[in-house]
Amino acid sequence: MGTKYHYNLQTFYNEDAISYYLLGAFITDGSVSSTNNRIELTSIDGDWLILINNLICKEKPIAVRYGKYHRICYSSEKIKEWLVGHGCGPKKSLTLDFPKIPDKYLPDFLRGCWDGDGNFHLSRKYYASNESNIHVSASISSGSELFATKISKILSDMNIKNKIYVPKIKPRIIKGAVINSNNKHYNVNVSGFGSICRLIHFMYYTNDIISMPRKRKITNEIVDYWERKFYCKRCGELMIVGIASRGNAQFCDICRPIQKEERRKIKRIENGLL
Ligand SMILES: [Zn+2]
Repeated sequence: MGTKYHYNLQTFYNEDAISYYLLGAFITDGSVSSTNNRIELTSIDGDWLILINNLICKEKPIAVRYGKYHRICYSSEKIKEWLVGHGCGPKKSLTLDFPKIPDKYLPDFLRGCWDGDGNFHLSRKYYASNESNIHVSASISSGSELFATKISKILSDMNIKNKIYVPKIKPRIIKGAVINSNNKHYNVNVSGFGSICRLIHFMYYTNDIISMPRKRKITNEIVDYWERKFYCKRCGELMIVGIASRGNAQFCDICRPIQKEERRKIKRIENGLL
């Protein structure tokens, strides 16, 4: 017999924002055993697992493999029961359905899913130069077509533009052996700053909610960049800039024609016409 741990079952039984966040994390990234009461969650984000572990069983040590993969692992019939009862059962990866989530906690569930199997990316290569060179992306991946299709529909209903993309299956090489997997992956790709920021504001409705620190940081960078303020380079007035011209907005409506005229004048002088 191993050590008996005390699990904070109330974290799940509360059926609140935290419960549904955890459901999202476990349903995407966790595993529930079909033969015993084991529940696991593995991630390279150790600080994230500490947050989750603190909620469920603070005294349980977090395992680290190869100095990189952190794993929390619980053996609890009650936790398993709760997860299975909420749609997070064993061998779920290919057949997972989108569980019933109270509207109120949909942001938390989605954030949990995104922290589990989603990602955000902002390329800073050409930061502050030409906007067309700045790349932003957000996507979530699932082995279940049904799950991906339902997430896609939920996002579309919120005017968050997205498409499901199924990458070609390539054989993978693991420890020298070629592994041919027939398991497709369904990536729900959200496109454009506007849609990605709407998704971020939906999932991160306040600053002090539980979330993966690394992804939280990226989403903050995306929002800070996209929602930055523009000031006219000539008069210094704060400008309201439409989506189409966010990349190169430099002058306000009053200063733009004046600026144009000034530039024309300079050109005429240079060409010896004045
Ligand atoms: Zn101006």
